[in-house]
Order: sequence, then structure tokens, then C-alpha cells
Amino acid sequence: MTKTITPALVDKLYTMLSPCRLCPRECRVDRLHGEVGSCNAGSKLTISSYHQHFGEEPPLVGQHGSGTIFLTHCNLHCVFCQNYEISQHGMGHETTPHECSRMMLRLQALGCHNINLVTPTPWVPHLVEALRIAQDSGLHIPIVYNCGGYESVETLRLLEGIVDIYMPDIKYGDNASAQKYSDAPRYWDIVQKALKEMHRQVGDLVLDRGIAQRGLLIRHLVMPENIAGSKACFAFIRKELSQNTVVNVMAQYYPTHQAHEFPEINRRITAQEYRRALAELEQCGLVEGFRQTMDTIVRKIVPEWTDELRET
Ligand code: SF4
Repeated sequence: MTKTITPALVDKLYTMLSPCRLCPRECRVDRLHGEVGSCNAGSKLTISSYHQHFGEEPPLVGQHGSGTIFLTHCNLHCVFCQNYEISQHGMGHETTPHECSRMMLRLQALGCHNINLVTPTPWVPHLVEALRIAQDSGLHIPIVYNCGGYESVETLRLLEGIVDIYMPDIKYGDNASAQKYSDAPRYWDIVQKALKEMHRQVGDLVLDRGIAQRGLLIRHLVMPENIAGSKACFAFIRKELSQNTVVNVMAQYYPTHQAHEFPEINRRITAQEYRRALAELEQCGLVEGFRQTMDTIVRKIVPEWTDELRET
């Protein structure tokens, strides 16, 4: 964090819950007085778990892990969500910003290289309040905003100087697929604006002795039948952001949650589909990032962090 968080900023963010317009859905429900919108998040901060996490990208993990806090609920409704118990079914525990700030400080004391806020979008006011309290008590490691990319530029602007590393997904390269599989109107239009704003704030990823300090790291999950529109996503990143954008091209898609209702995505990706996505990445001139081994597909390895989510 490069700026001191003021009580006035926290208050301003809380006013955005009533009516709620924190994210692009703009449900306009009164979350401070018992109503819930599309994400099902209410007024009380709800967290699924927090811990040192060693399953994220190497620059976040380093030697001592990423200090990960998994928030409950999500403003996307992906039919293939690997964490649907948490994102869609509300698994988690109500807590307070004060307790959340203590979690942050505990993770820092354990040596974690960052505070990694997973699915923070519905909880931005609570998290910024927690960060304000933790900042007063000496929190100094980078803050990671780990989200699905369905973000309001207005909200993101209020996070400038607070978030050090943005780690959004770019899930689809067209609006129709996003509507069908994530119930996310205009996702493609929205994610492009959001990623431009994130990049404007923090730029390309900067490492210090291999550990991420600041910048943008984008995740793209390759899907069966090219439903994720990988080429369009990479072309946007190359043209509108930077050739040096770090992109993690992920191969671990597997059908879960409601994916069985959609025959075209009711399977894992093939090695050929993954290779094709990597070729498209290279054709677009993007050279920075992470690739997964074919083991992820062939041996059907699910990254360990999907299981860790269930622990508290
Ligand atoms: S944060 Fe939740 S309630 Fe608020 S606009 Fe987004 S989906 Fe709707």
C-alpha cells in the first residue's frame, strides 16, 4: 500500500453498499439493511478460510507462501466453478473487519510475501476497513486483489494506492459465452475496461529477487471447444495493455458444479487444445508468464488450492 487509508474513504466505500453498486451488476439492493443482490453477500464480512498458500504462481509464493484470505460469495456465477460451495453456496463464517485485520497481521508474521484477497469484489468496503486497521498496526507487505475480472472501474479507482498487485481472470473473449456460462452480462466489455484501469494503476508485474512487488498478473483458463476465446483475450492484452503483461495460461479446467448440464464443456481440455492456446499466446507476441505442464491435463491434477479452501 502506498497510501494511507482514511476513515473517509472507508465511509465512502460503505455508502456504495446502499444501494449496492460495488460491481458492474449494480443490483441497487440495500445491503446495509438486510437485502442481498446477485452475489448473495450481505452486510457482514464472510470469510471461508485464511492461510499460507503454496499453490499460487511462484512470484507470489516464494519461500514462505502467499497470505491468502478466501472470501465467501462471488459476483460471477460460473457453471463450472471449482469452488462453488464457497462462491455460490455461501460456505464461510461471518467475521468483522477487526478480526480480518488480525488475520492479515498473522499472515505477515508467518513470513507470507503478500496478502492475497481471493474473490474480494463483494467485500471491498470491509476489506479496506480491515486494511486501514492493519496498516495502523504495521501491515506493509503487498496487497493482491485476486478477482474474476468483472469489476467496476469506479470501485477500482478507489483502490488506487491500496492494491499493489492485481490478479484478475480474463475468462471469456466474447459477451455471449460469459452470459451463458457465468450469467455475466457484458463481461467482455467490462473486463477490458477493468483490466485497462488495473494496468493504469500498477503497470506490468515487478519482481524483487523473484517475489512480486507490484503490477498486473492475468489468469486465463483454457476451456473446451475454445469457449474461453483465448485468442481474443490475448490479442486484447497485447494491443491494449502491454507486450510484457504476465499471463498465466491455465490448463486445469475440469467439469464440476453445473457443467454437466452443458455437454460442450462436460469434459477436460485436451493437450491439443492447450497447445493451441499457447500457440495463440505466442502469435500475439506475449512472452511473459506461466505455462503448465501437460501433466495438469493428462494426469488430471487439480491444483492443491481447491482442496485447501475447505479448511479454516
Ligand atoms: S457486489 Fe453483489 S449486490 Fe453489489 S452490485 Fe455486485 S453482485 Fe450486486
